[in-house]
Amino acid sequence: KEKAIATPSQTKAYLNKFGFSFKKSLGQNFIIDVNILNNILNVAGVTKDVGVIEIGPGMGALTEQLAQAADHVVAFEIDQRLEPILAETLADYDNISIVFEDVLKADVQAVINQHFKPSQPIKLVANLPYYVTTPIIMQLLMSRLPLESITVMIQKEVAERMAAEPNSKSYGSLSIAVQYYTEAIHTFNVPKTAFMPQPNVESAVLHLTFRKEPPVHVEDEPFFFSLVRASFAQRRKTLRNNLVSFFKGKYDKEMVEEKLKQAEISGDRRAETLSIGEFANLANTFC
Ligand code: SAM
Repeated sequence: KEKAIATPSQTKAYLNKFGFSFKKSLGQNFIIDVNILNNILNVAGVTKDVGVIEIGPGMGALTEQLAQAADHVVAFEIDQRLEPILAETLADYDNISIVFEDVLKADVQAVINQHFKPSQPIKLVANLPYYVTTPIIMQLLMSRLPLESITVMIQKEVAERMAAEPNSKSYGSLSIAVQYYTEAIHTFNVPKTAFMPQPNVESAVLHLTFRKEPPVHVEDEPFFFSLVRASFAQRRKTLRNNLVSFFKGKYDKEMVEEKLKQAEISGDRRAETLSIGEFANLANTFC
């Protein structure tokens, strides 16, 4: 194709031709910079053998680049109004399938079975709608879909939280949830000017590689995650105080102190200083 979709002039031309108006409520901020798309593809490691799942193709800016580099692309789009536009912008490609569904409600496994070869490496690559970033990522992490990695453009602040290390301001229960399933890297930031229309927040590309095994042994996953959330309930309080509130009516103060001792963790510490391994030890002492 002569001209990429991801330029200001092409994007404007398609908007005018189809009389398309952006829906803010659907997080519609389209990319107008091909270099950024190429950088996303490099981070994701998209090669000719790879099957790609995209969420929210919009006008097809990223989809087009993915189709050139990958074996096959399946994209989920919630907005039916984009159907005639995508039919034109992506007309040159025979390795793209668009599914007009809300990705949170779609049967992604069935779509994978239908479109990808058995044992083909599958990667998820997307410029996500920001209003549902965390639900989409958490659903993908817990879905047990056969994905190798997730490479997504999201709000910079959320990328920082998901990839944060202990003892940093961004470290919290979201960092632990994401890093329990994946190795997380906040790769590069993207300015507002790379989008049309420009979003209100700064953006960043997050790269998540699925782990074969969790990094720590956890006896009871739901209990582990609720203990982690409770430990961060009031960030400025000590771990002891947050845990005492969490276990109120179930375990008394002395019992909580005993468990902390058993896990060799001082109750005077704040949750943000604990590693995933320490949280796992602590949770396991209650099981
Ligand atoms: N990929 C395009 C690009 O980079 O220019 C568009 C990205 S735009 C940030 C997000 C896209 O996700 C929009 O096309 C929007 O309609 C779509 N979208 C929003 N919510 C969705 C959902 N729940 N399921 C699937 N697509 C969704």
